[in-house]
Amino acid sequence: MAQIKVVTVFGTRPEAIKMAPVCKALAERGEFHSVCCVTGQHRNLLPPILRHYGITPQYDLQIMSHGQTLTDITSRVLLGLDDILKNEAPDLLMCHGDPTTAFAAALAAFYKKIPVGHVEAGLRTYERYSPYPEEMNRSLISRIASLHFAPTAGNRKNLAAEGITDGVYVTGNTVIDAINSTTLPGYVFKTPMLAEILAKDAPVALLTAHRRENYGRPLENICRAVRRIAADFPDMSVVYPVHPGAHVRRTVFPMLEGVKNVYLTEPIDVFELHQLLARCRFVMTDSGGLQEEAPALGKPVLVLRNETERPEAVAAGTVMLVGVEEEPIVRAARALMTDPELYERMSSARNPYGDGHASERITSAVLWHFGLSDQEPRDFAS
Ligand code: UDP
Repeated sequence: MAQIKVVTVFGTRPEAIKMAPVCKALAERGEFHSVCCVTGQHRNLLPPILRHYGITPQYDLQIMSHGQTLTDITSRVLLGLDDILKNEAPDLLMCHGDPTTAFAAALAAFYKKIPVGHVEAGLRTYERYSPYPEEMNRSLISRIASLHFAPTAGNRKNLAAEGITDGVYVTGNTVIDAINSTTLPGYVFKTPMLAEILAKDAPVALLTAHRRENYGRPLENICRAVRRIAADFPDMSVVYPVHPGAHVRRTVFPMLEGVKNVYLTEPIDVFELHQLLARCRFVMTDSGGLQEEAPALGKPVLVLRNETERPEAVAAGTVMLVGVEEEPIVRAARALMTDPELYERMSSARNPYGDGHASERITSAVLWHFGLSDQEPRDFAS
């Protein structure tokens, strides 16, 4: 085999942030012919990330449509990839994590008997509808994939419990590779509002909430809690980049717009977001990626969900699962603001998710798998 042809497929913001370092690592090694395909599931959120990593996708399926359903995404990705995979005939398709784009891409490859490499494999809540549809997506990808790049030893254990032991490599999470290249000392914020908030030298809390299972009542509870926290700590700024989804906006804007120290913004460019993360006091989020990034930067995280597939940071003490009821969220935020010992404990930077070399391990594992290297990659150990 002269070169291994790898088609990488991604479509959402978290996939792009976490796959870009892998694409870059593939492009840098002569043993690979790397072909990048974006599906466009999150059309507007990808270009800055691709630009930063110098990635120009060869294919863009442009599947995004107004009010797209999971069925729309799945069927359009399947149809869109059909000819591409036939024409490219890659040796491997790589997808990431748990979005519907990733599941549909894995399925499209399976239909063509093309092996699949799954980056960020083995995360589980064991609740089929939480997160929805991500838990089912990632479980199904694990059935399909031949190579499983598990961020942690715990993720490998989850796979082993499902009988998946071949082709599993513990690599660390590529989000740590990404954050190492986006957090720059002395960074000057481009967004005037962020520059102004950060210039105040007062505490900032970063808030994101947009998961499907939080639509409606849970998101209303979160907004009520945030109003109370903002009122309790008038010097603090709460920055909330609001996801473009209509279900999120129709709850968040009526409930939080106009609250003096709550700043609702459009999604923030990943570089600004990471700088903000590096400078904030604490994070409230239902996001998966932020649960990995914040501990790496020593920032306490209150997780606005009832369960997490990322127990490592809970065990390390930097992430607290606070659920989606108003009272516990308010209590936990108050505690972080008023109890220096608790804050110190939660912010002592322990990072169970990677050392910034996950992409290298992944490309080395692919070479080993295809017999182009005689060096079996060593597992990442936190
Ligand atoms: N993020 C970003 N801008 C924002 C909010 C989040 O760049 O306004 C980044 C964040 O740093 C993390 C990723 O997007 O890397 C998380 O994406 P999301 O919450 O959509 O997905 P999840 O991680 O839950 O899969």
